[in-house]
Amino acid sequence: MKTNKISLKEIVSHAKQYGFVFPSSEIYDGINAIYDYGQYGIYLKNNIKEYWWKSMIQINKNIIGLETSILMHPKIWKASGHVYKFKEIFLSNEDTKKSYRLDLLIENYFKKNNYLNKDLKKNIIKYIDKKLKINEKEKILKIINKMKILNPKNKERTKWTKIYEYNLMFKIPLKEHDGNKKFYLRPETAQGIFTNFLNVLNSSKIKIPFGIAQIGKVFRKEIIARQFIFRMREFEQMEMQFFIHPKQEEKWLEYWKKKRLRWHLSLGLGEKKYRVYEHEQLAHYANKAYDIQFKYPFGFKELEGVHSRTNFDLKNHEKYSKKKIRVFDNKKSYMPYIIETSVGLDRIFLAVFSSCLKKETIKKERIILKIHPALSPIKAAIFPLIRDKRLMAYAKDIYKKLKIYFILTYEDKDSIGKRYRRQDAIGTPICVTIDFKTLKDKCVTMRFRDKMLQKRVLIKDLKREIKKETSMNKLLKLLI
Ligand code: ATP
Repeated sequence: MKTNKISLKEIVSHAKQYGFVFPSSEIYDGINAIYDYGQYGIYLKNNIKEYWWKSMIQINKNIIGLETSILMHPKIWKASGHVYKFKEIFLSNEDTKKSYRLDLLIENYFKKNNYLNKDLKKNIIKYIDKKLKINEKEKILKIINKMKILNPKNKERTKWTKIYEYNLMFKIPLKEHDGNKKFYLRPETAQGIFTNFLNVLNSSKIKIPFGIAQIGKVFRKEIIARQFIFRMREFEQMEMQFFIHPKQEEKWLEYWKKKRLRWHLSLGLGEKKYRVYEHEQLAHYANKAYDIQFKYPFGFKELEGVHSRTNFDLKNHEKYSKKKIRVFDNKKSYMPYIIETSVGLDRIFLAVFSSCLKKETIKKERIILKIHPALSPIKAAIFPLIRDKRLMAYAKDIYKKLKIYFILTYEDKDSIGKRYRRQDAIGTPICVTIDFKTLKDKCVTMRFRDKMLQKRVLIKDLKREIKKETSMNKLLKLLI
């Protein structure tokens, strides 16, 4: 069997052709960096969500879930530092007048010149931070031009002429023509967790160390938005904030880094696809941070962040809200530290979709989405072998009896070979075929997507067989 490589272009086209991801507002020519999930994409997305949610809430007795609002009190974003610090810094050049993110330009520069030492990189980043704070942008341009950072577009020397900062939050006025009170579309779900910390503490018996998890939409005015659903302006985050005693920061950071990596590995995409990178340039709230990176078709990129946020957020919410945010332990009160795990649902979707889409040739070529059966949109397809009335009635009856347990599909159009190909392309792990022998022996043929193996099973055992193959418990067991 030959396996051929699939390009990003083919991945995007497959996602659209088979109802996984559509460009948003396409009949109006689309809108940059915003996407819709189609009829199969939404199942895959929900399955990833369910797996994450269960792995956090169901199997950890000290993690609870929340769902907080997208719109929150505007002061929250001042306290969190997002109003002043949630910025990207861009450089533009004379040749193309295009903008590039400064941090990525520096990162690539040092990657290409790997003979330069790490300390130099740290010092340059420190210098830039310092100059930004006192608004000495010309000095930054000077050092960048001295470094001879190439124009990414044509890989040639360029003169960098402009440097500017850009806040990534979407601002919306509370009332029309109301310039003063600004609401923001949240750029992370975490703040809803911090601002409910006291509510959770007072309404439950939970004790430190404990975590609060949340899944929800967030919005960022990403300027450079490309690479399909990797960088979007509206996306979904799955975040867990773990509240700890300050003295245990290191221990829990390491614990969650390992635990999250194990979760990703359980998806079966291959160990080589992941690497852990320690941040040199920290977000405004972080003390120490790791990225779990994934090898996307366009290279290793951030999939998940595991950060120590210290008590940065709680301290500032205490200051801005004037409410004490403390826990009591042994008659002493203290402000907990926070370890955060933050992952983009859409980035996991892309990791799974892009690395599981395979082009295989055994005599004929077939495109097959080899995803873990627990994540597959459709768990089993029920087919009559041909469009014969008795076989169709039999197959429909099986479909009707099993549809309350699994997401199934019934199909009788086209040849059985074509139906198999269609199910392979959307990742259905099992096809069940009803043939004339079924009418006599009450057995059906189960065909397994990856092995192309077939076996006869009694209809009464079908539910158990499908469950065995597709249950999410199979994944959860890998975590404990
Ligand atoms: P990047 O460096 O790629 O912009 P980030 O460091 O800004 O990411 P965080 O603020 O740590 O990202 O957000 C946590 C997670 O949210 C990321 O690890 C990523 O999975 C996801 N994420 C961030 N920005 C986007 C985006 N524009 N589109 C899709 N997912 C995103």
